[in-house]
Amino acid sequence: MHELGICDAMLKMVRGIAKENELNSIQKITVEVGSLSGVVPSFLSDCWVAVTDGTELQETEFVIETLDGTAKCLDCGLEFTANLDDLSCPECRGKKLVPLTGKDLTLKEILAT
Ligand SMILES: [Zn+2]
Repeated sequence: MHELGICDAMLKMVRGIAKENELNSIQKITVEVGSLSGVVPSFLSDCWVAVTDGTELQETEFVIETLDGTAKCLDCGLEFTANLDDLSCPECRGKKLVPLTGKDLTLKEILAT
């Protein structure tokens, strides 16, 4: 599962940052998920709970912020906010779209106590 791999990598990253900055306990982690990243936020939080269970991070608050992605229509050139329920151009109904933003998942903030 995609989300599990992401959480595993994120856990390693958070631990690395905590070690580097000598953070003893982490209160909150904020992750930003682009709507075109293919990551399902609810799966992501379930996986986070699974990978941190029994670790020093199991009490850490995990916050997911979603970011609306934008896409460009290759037929008419329009740039618009991508709606995952209707992946076609709002102007010409074209289906040849390229994602511009919202493809990424970023570890936005780590709050230490
Ligand atoms: Zn178009």
